[in-house]
Amino acid sequence: GVEATSEKTYTIATDVTFPPFVYADENNEYVGIDISLMKEIAKVEGFKVKIQPVGFNAAIQSVQSGQVDGMIAGMTITNDRKKTFDFSTPYYSSGIVMAVKPNSSVKGLDNLKGKKVAVKTGTSGADYANSIKDKYGFKVVTFDDSDNMYNDVKSGNAVACFEDSAVLSYGIKTGLALKIVTKPTATGNYGFAVKKGANQELLSKFNEGLKKLKANGTYDKIIKQYTGSEA
Ligand code: GLN
Repeated sequence: GVEATSEKTYTIATDVTFPPFVYADENNEYVGIDISLMKEIAKVEGFKVKIQPVGFNAAIQSVQSGQVDGMIAGMTITNDRKKTFDFSTPYYSSGIVMAVKPNSSVKGLDNLKGKKVAVKTGTSGADYANSIKDKYGFKVVTFDDSDNMYNDVKSGNAVACFEDSAVLSYGIKTGLALKIVTKPTATGNYGFAVKKGANQELLSKFNEGLKKLKANGTYDKIIKQYTGSEA
């Protein structure tokens, strides 16, 4: 048959381990809410996507340097990021929580004095930890992906980590040996992002596509598939 060669291909950067939004399945294929949304939006809007799982901070750098067209990585829409990114309509929301080992004596922020806390480079969880570390007297150690951050807590080097509640709750539900000990911070919204002023056509297509997926039930189906609950 004749191939539709007119479809544009966009390169989209993403995180490596951020379930249920993005993660490698048992066949080493990248799956999750973000990957499905991106692929389904591409389908309804008539473009192709090439997904690049490079890690969260690397994704930020690749968008800013123009190496990729956009990123989708459970990325929180913040005023600070709006200075360098344009964001889509929000597609999910999550606050930040603190997690410790299940048998930890750390019950909250007040127990962190003189201790180490693990965060992931470039994330809003890291920003949050840095904003309160002087008040609570803890040190921050950084990791490039969530798995390594969790492992630092499991091994006992850090006593706690800060991470999006949607991701930690999902992780714990699926076997991650950590426990959440704080209430989520003010909720943030996740958005697809392009470099500020660049790729506006892609941004509009994302927004249009998301609207269609919400209207035709695909959005709900994706959320249900990856979280087991209704959107
Ligand atoms: N939502 C957080 C942020 O935007 C974490 C994202 C991630 O780790 N992929 O910083």
